Amino acid sequence: MQITGKVKLPKGKSVAVNIGVDFDAASVWMGTFGKTSPSYLARGEFGAEVGVRRVLNLFKKYDITTTFCIPGHTVDTHTDVCKEIVELGHEVVHHGYVHEDPTNLTFEEEEAIMRKGLEALQRIGVKPRGYRSPAWDYSPNTLSILEKYGFSYDSSLMGNDLYPYRPRPVEVNFDKANIFGPPSEIIEIPVSWFLDDFPTQEYVIGGAEGMRSTEEVFGRWKSIFDYAVDYEEGACFILTVHPQTIGRAHNIQMLEKLIQYMDSKGAWFTSLGSIYDAYEENNAK
Ligand SMILES: [Zn+2]
Repeated sequence: MQITGKVKLPKGKSVAVNIGVDFDAASVWMGTFGKTSPSYLARGEFGAEVGVRRVLNLFKKYDITTTFCIPGHTVDTHTDVCKEIVELGHEVVHHGYVHEDPTNLTFEEEEAIMRKGLEALQRIGVKPRGYRSPAWDYSPNTLSILEKYGFSYDSSLMGNDLYPYRPRPVEVNFDKANIFGPPSEIIEIPVSWFLDDFPTQEYVIGGAEGMRSTEEVFGRWKSIFDYAVDYEEGACFILTVHPQTIGRAHNIQMLEKLIQYMDSKGAWFTSLGSIYDAYEENNAK
C-alpha cells in the first residue's frame, strides 16, 4: 500500500498551492522534441526574455515565493535571469541538463546528466533539495540516482494527485503480477498533465494539440483546486507552468485570475521545498 502524507498548513489556510515554473527555454525543444530550428528556439527565447519577466512580476504583485525547475542548459544560456530568480528568494530545483528523456539511458549516462545539471546550478549558487524530471519521464534508475545524490523530494510522478507520497520502484512483469519494491526515503510531490499549461496551450505540428481556450483551462484548474479545498484536508495543488507558455498575454491574465480566486479561498502559496518541510506521514512503513 502506498505511504502518503498530509501537508501541515499554516493557520487559516485551506490547501498548499505550488505554482511550479519549469523554465525550460530552448532546452525543451532541443532535448524533448529534437527541434533546433530558429523558429522553435525563438519560442524558448520568448520564455527567457519576455515570459519569465511577466511571471516574476505576477509573483511580486501577489507576494508569492515559489519553485523554479531549471535545466542546466537554461542556467548556462540565460545566466543573469536565473541568478535574479535566486536573488528574489525563489527555490530552484534540478530539471536535467538539456531536458533529456532518461527512459532509455544507462545508469552511467543518466548519472552524468545529473552531475552536469548539479554543476550548472552550483554556478548560480544553488544546491537543490528537489528534482523534477524533464517531461516527467523516469528511467528504472532515476529513483536510485536521486537517492544516491541525497535529494529530499521529487516532483515528477503521478501515483497520487493531491497528497505527497513515498515512491516505490516497480518490478515489471508481463506474465505475473508487478512487484512493488520498498518505499523510498524521498518524498514524491505529485504532478499531473491536467495541471500543466503545456499540453493545452503549446502547438507543435504532429506533437501537441495546444490552442485550447483559457476559459477551458481555467475551469479545469479551478475545479481541481475546489475539490482539494472542499473534499480533502491538508492537500496540495501542484500546478506546472512554463514562462514561454503561461507568459503569453492571454495565459498570464488567466493565471492572475486563478491566483486571485485561490487567494480568496485560503490558498497557501509556497514552494515545493516548504511543502516537503510540512509533510506529515499518515501511515507507518
Ligand atoms: Zn521542463
